This record gives sequence, structure tokens and C-alpha cells, in this order.
Amino acid sequence: MVARKFFVGGNFKMNGSLKEVETIVQRINDAKFDGSAELVVAPPALYLLKIQGELNPPAQVSAQNSYTEKSGAFTGEISPNQLKDANVHWVILGHSERRSLFGDTDKLVADKTKAAVGAGLSVIACIGESLEERESGKTQAVVERQLEAIANEISESDWKNIVIAYEPVWAIGTGKVATKEQAQETHEQIRQWLAKKVSQSTADETRIIYGGSVNGKNCTDLSNAPDIDGFLVGGASLKPEFIDIVNSQK
Ligand code: PEP
Repeated sequence: MVARKFFVGGNFKMNGSLKEVETIVQRINDAKFDGSAELVVAPPALYLLKIQGELNPPAQVSAQNSYTEKSGAFTGEISPNQLKDANVHWVILGHSERRSLFGDTDKLVADKTKAAVGAGLSVIACIGESLEERESGKTQAVVERQLEAIANEISESDWKNIVIAYEPVWAIGTGKVATKEQAQETHEQIRQWLAKKVSQSTADETRIIYGGSVNGKNCTDLSNAPDIDGFLVGGASLKPEFIDIVNSQK
């Protein structure tokens, strides 16, 4: 059996002033970690470099988005090559807020993923179904469609640089966390899909993390599921309980 290093990402979204974000990062720096988790935090882009300079390694920063192109007339965008140039090694792509509010289609997410791994970045690739899709029994079909779009654009070896974040849309920011059984079921289906469509070693090695209303109370139970390899955390990443989530692997 392959040991997958537990992975926790903190997605600050568009929250916090510089001072507030620095306070959160200071709390992370002061915390005691047992070292079993890989930790990545994603502050707003404006604060990335400052926070990168202040965050104690081995914790790393991540961007919350990047574009498909290396450079050019794309006002407001950041290229993966610029992130790489600035020593930012991670980017979150396909977050449901990007998909629902900013028009990131499956194809655009896949193209962004291809550009990011091509530039040498690691990607937290977000997938997940809406409440309506879950209630109509389409969860597996939706996540497989989103994965397929990505798989069509990247090679087998690129999956080494991808962490899959399963984030049911109905659980994001709602306080309605998936049960351990719900999350495990979908994570297992994702892993089986990877085995079938990419390779067995990719399925064994790829971290599949859960996101959606994870907090200091529910993280330990979720982390016990065999196919949950960590978390992507929104709201709780801004709070002291984030430290408990990072340390939640048993
Ligand atoms: C997220 O935005 O990725 C997320 C999981 O948010 P929250 O933890 O607030 O539900």
C-alpha cells in the first residue's frame, strides 16, 4: 500500500486585510505541527509574496487561480509562469466559486491545469457536484466529467503534481459538511476512475482531499476514512481551529 502524505490547504478566498492575513499566518507559524501533514495556504493574490516571505517552511503559499497563457494582454490575470518565477509553487484551480461566478468551464479549468503543470506548478484541482446534481443521483457522473476534461489535457506523469479536492458545492461555506460515508464513497469512486482511466499507480499515489465546511470538530472523523487524504479548508482556515485540522490525521 502506498502512503500518501496528508495534505491540508487553507483557502483564504477574498478575505482579510493585509494585517489580518499576517495575523493568521503568525498563528500558523506559532503552532505546533506533528509534521505529518503537507500544509499550503492560499491568501489573496495581492498578499502572496509578502505572506510567502513570512510563512515558516515547510508550509507553502498557493495562488487561488492562474490563467492559461504565459503572458500577454489578459488584464487582471496571473500566469502560471509568473507564479513559478515568484517561487509560488501551488495554485488552486476549478474552485466552485470560479466555476459558478466567473465562468470557469470544465475545459477552461483543464486548460489552466495543463498550463500550470506545464509551467512546473502543482495544482489543487477542485471538482464537485451541486445539491441538485447530488439529489438527482449525478454525483459520480459530474465528478468524472470534470476529471475527464483534465485528463484529456495532461499526461499520466502530470498527475504527480496534482492534488484532487473533492468539494461538493452544497457543502462549501454552508456549514453542511458531507458525512464521512458520503465523502469516502465519492473519493473511492474518484480513485477507481483514476485507476481505470489514468493508471493504477496514479490512483494509488494521488492525494484526494475533501473540502466543504470542514472544521475543528468534524475533521478527525473525516480524516479516518481510507480515501480522504486531507482537506481544503475555506472559512475555518481563517480561525485558530485550522491548526487542529492540520493535525487531524490519526
Ligand atoms: C472552500 O472554499 O474550498 C471551502 C471548502 O470552503 P468552506 O471550508 O468554508 O466550506
